[in-house]
Amino acid sequence: MRASQLFFPTLREVPAEAELPSHRLLLRAGFIRKLAAGVYSYLPLGYKVLKKIEAIAREETNAAGGQEILMPSLQPVELWQETGRWDVDVLFKLEDRSGRWHGLGMTHEEVVTDIVRRDVRSYKELPLNLYQIQTKFRDEPRPRGGVIRAREFIMLDSYSFDRDDEGLDLSYRKMRRAFSRAFARLGVDFIIVEAESGAIGGKDNQEYMVLAGSGEDMVLRCDQCGYAANAERCEIADRGYEPSDEPGEPLDVADTPGMKTIEQVTGFLKTPPKKLVKTLIYEADGKPIAALVRGDRDLNEAKMSRMLDMDKLEMASPEMIVKLTGAEVGFSGPVGLKNVRIVADYEIRAMANFVTGANKTDAHYLNVNLDRDFRVDGWADIRVASDGDPCPKCAGVMRATRGIEVGHIFKIETKYSKAMDATLLDEDGREKHFIMGCYGLGVSRMLAAVPEANHDKDGMIWPMSVAPFEAVVLLLNPDDEAQLGAAVRVYEELQERGVDVLLDERDERSGVKFKDADLLGIPVQIVVGRLASEGKVEVRLRRDKQGRELVLDEAAREIVSIIETEKRRLLEAADRVS
Ligand code: ATP
Ligand code: MG
Repeated sequence: MRASQLFFPTLREVPAEAELPSHRLLLRAGFIRKLAAGVYSYLPLGYKVLKKIEAIAREETNAAGGQEILMPSLQPVELWQETGRWDVDVLFKLEDRSGRWHGLGMTHEEVVTDIVRRDVRSYKELPLNLYQIQTKFRDEPRPRGGVIRAREFIMLDSYSFDRDDEGLDLSYRKMRRAFSRAFARLGVDFIIVEAESGAIGGKDNQEYMVLAGSGEDMVLRCDQCGYAANAERCEIADRGYEPSDEPGEPLDVADTPGMKTIEQVTGFLKTPPKKLVKTLIYEADGKPIAALVRGDRDLNEAKMSRMLDMDKLEMASPEMIVKLTGAEVGFSGPVGLKNVRIVADYEIRAMANFVTGANKTDAHYLNVNLDRDFRVDGWADIRVASDGDPCPKCAGVMRATRGIEVGHIFKIETKYSKAMDATLLDEDGREKHFIMGCYGLGVSRMLAAVPEANHDKDGMIWPMSVAPFEAVVLLLNPDDEAQLGAAVRVYEELQERGVDVLLDERDERSGVKFKDADLLGIPVQIVVGRLASEGKVEVRLRRDKQGRELVLDEAAREIVSIIETEKRRLLEAADRVS
């Protein structure tokens, strides 16, 4: 491809709303363009990378036994009603001319389960793994980061069907390995973490996280045993929360007029948030419950429901809070609270002389102490984990880092097959529900996650496996005969050897060509300049910009060998993670 013919509209200025480096770079380099919030077009370079990402994800899923299909985006309401997911908030809904409602596929458990329940009868047809690479629609509340969190995006979603748990374990392990290999081949550092299952449901599930400071997800990792979990899911050991030996001060009341938030109260009382205990009133399976966490911590509702075996947990209404505590929202506390079960986070055990709401509007208690002033009905791990928390699996300490979720695998077991009554006839002659797994890889999110994790001040740095071109020949002066001849020769020889190469022969200053090559992030740059008259060119890697001279006769062979080495390095990385 010649750069003069390539459509890559570069930008000097990017819209201020583009905050993430990858988003800015993809816009600047003309890889993507925005149509509406969370809706993007892929221009030639972006689409090329996307196709290469897809190809790798496809190859690895095929190798794991997946069979590719393509399911519809347009899905009748009845199907969603069978599983109770018609009301999921991110589902896009539309009505057709005859008044029938449809959902636009946000994930395809319903459709694939429908296919299998109609056409798979016997255990002999299992295991079965069906997958697709397809556009998904989700009405995200906060589209962000360009294609990182879009409302229309491309996912590889795979679904496994087995007759028993052992079968599911094996299918899950195969897909886990397939995704690990795919991400390694995409040249990113990633970790697999325990995760929360969200709208998909099911028990065991894990996420692939690309480590990046700008990532939306907080991930905790134990420095000793390697336990890793999304903060949404992460457990915390009950360790190191010995009762404080601080002598108890007399209980006191302070007027805190209109001070409802932690910031207001602690600012007003000049106390650090660590010395305050938040009291959050919930309704759990129809009964009131007060949950206590330290003022600077967040309650983790999903973990609390799981830890306390609750089916339904909801914030109590303001009216209910007034009824239970006798005070407005913002002034609840455990002291004197009646007919409400009190559950506290382990950490509270180590606190003394703290501040709580006084169950009286516009007042807080000071110097509250456990046992002396109130009793706790149950201790549990109910807060969001953070840096420095004790590991639940060993004696280690967990460290927090940020990550971008790029893949998510689930053991959904019989959640969908039961809801949709999808059964098979097993060896013993009995009807059983299919045991399912589902596996999602964010194909279009990877278009951004790769440069998010690999860029510098000058632009993107693509790994060889998915780069928009493997090499670029920079013809610095197209009017110079020797340079033109050398550049075209290297370009053609590389093409003959199967290299995906770009020739920048544009009538532009050499500075522009260097800048664009760096911005686009093509991994190998071949500079054809003055040295061409001596039969030489310079080759350098985008990664470190270290240049080396090559004689023209050997240039193509050498460059091919550099490209092969880079490709091999990524494949070896895949072998190491699997
Ligand atoms: P998130 O927590 O980021 O909203 P999710 O957990 O809802 O994602 P899954 O249903 O697990 O997403 O989807 C599987 C994969 O699809 C994710 O790991 C991610 O890589 C990708 N993905 C999900 N939502 C989006 C989106 N809005 N835009 C781009 N990719 C997405
Ligand atoms: Mg997910």
